[in-house]
Amino acid sequence: VRSARLRYDAVVIGAGVAGLTAATRLAEGGASVCVVATGVGSTHLAPATIDVLGYDPERVETTGAALADFVSARPLHPYALTGTQSIAAALEWFRGRVEAHSPSGYRYLGGLERNFLLPSAIGVARPSALVPETMAAGELREHSSLCFVGLPVLRDFHVRLCAANVARLGVEARGIELDIDVGGRPEANAVGLAKRFDDPGFRASFAAELAPLVHEQRIGLPAVLGLRDAHGAWADLEQRLERRVFEVPTLPPSAPGIRMFNALRASLRAAGGRLVMGSRVVDAKRSGGRVVALRAEASGHEVIYEPSWVVLATGGFGSGGIAMDSHWKAREAVFDLPLRYGPEAGRPRFDPTYLAKQPLARAGVAVDASLRPPGYENLLVAGAALGGAEPWREGCGEGISLASGYRAAELLLKSEDMAAAA
Ligand SMILES: Cc1cc2nc3c(=O)[nH]c(=O)nc-3n(C[C@H](O)[C@H](O)[C@H](O)COP(=O)(O)OP(=O)(O)OC[C@H]3O[C@@H](n4cnc5c(N)ncnc54)[C@H](O)[C@@H]3O)c2cc1C
Repeated sequence: VRSARLRYDAVVIGAGVAGLTAATRLAEGGASVCVVATGVGSTHLAPATIDVLGYDPERVETTGAALADFVSARPLHPYALTGTQSIAAALEWFRGRVEAHSPSGYRYLGGLERNFLLPSAIGVARPSALVPETMAAGELREHSSLCFVGLPVLRDFHVRLCAANVARLGVEARGIELDIDVGGRPEANAVGLAKRFDDPGFRASFAAELAPLVHEQRIGLPAVLGLRDAHGAWADLEQRLERRVFEVPTLPPSAPGIRMFNALRASLRAAGGRLVMGSRVVDAKRSGGRVVALRAEASGHEVIYEPSWVVLATGGFGSGGIAMDSHWKAREAVFDLPLRYGPEAGRPRFDPTYLAKQPLARAGVAVDASLRPPGYENLLVAGAALGGAEPWREGCGEGISLASGYRAAELLLKSEDMAAAA
């Protein structure tokens, strides 16, 4: 086993939205930063809209106005700890980084003023604060008619179901399918199709076939409109079809999520940060209240990191940041940090109704307003690893990861030893 020792001002564990945001902000502030991650996070699965607050418990229209009451009723919610100002600042920062580090013109629209209401793959209205411009014309409060176009090679995007559900919301909607050839293969995933849509020749013949089939004012396509130049692909289709075109998030993998990951990774690199994938942090050494070393395992070798600060952004149950063992004990996987809202003895762990209020939904690491777990001086936690939120019910998963990643970096950049190092 080879081993190496590396020193950084900060090591960020995890390469989801929370980790990449924290690391990029830190690097921009002058810190030497390394992100260590087992693999990609939820970016490659989720729709890539930044949902800040969708439900409280009714659907939220004006996120900025709703947040104040929301956090005052939930003093342990991650948003109560990050503060609402950090949320606004994080959104602005994110928009700027995506615009600066995506291929020509790709950008996000929105903010805290008014949630977008966009259709999910099954035509359910989803409230989101910030959305890729390529999705924005799906706004369901607009009354112009919609045509959803399915591509049979892309399984599990059921346009007729999607259109029927949207029509129930009072918007004229229809679903049609257009067979496209993907080299004779019976099916393709979103990434394979997105690469096809990067090709202007493919787009030209696609638009020529589709145009005579559509009479509605807006066209919804699965979110596969390009990876290398998604803005160019989307704008080209709008021009060729002479209609507003929008992407509808589909099942994983997520092309918009990959674009978001690519933009954040490019921002990190431009700021001088380092990203190490394929490396799992398995152990940490503590001295008093300080983490003095992290041990990471990659194929065939181990690396010891000796950071001044650590940001834990390992995600929740889905990414292994929080794990449940066969004795039903939930634990934070790297440091065994105390959890908030973990399973309680004698109380049920799951509600058998999938979409019900799940007892473990809020489980996660307990931190104070400096995002530090009790007893730790140089460890901060960000993202879905934090306890206190119910992201699926509140519609706030990406918002929490972005805001807490951003906040963690701001707190660190203000700390005396980081300021001295930078
Ligand atoms: C299919 C799907 C759909 C979703 N839809 C929505 C939605 O519509 N709206 C919404 O707001 N949210 C949604 N979410 C939730 C949202 O995507 C997540 O809450 C958010 O992206 C979490 O980001 P994160 O950075 O905190 O963690 P993650 O993205 O989970 O990243 C965790 C990172 O930590 C790494 N890691 C874990 N353990 C270790 C270790 N020991 N060592 C090194 N690295 C480690 C992982 O490899 C990964 O890089 C969805 C999630 C999924 C999976």
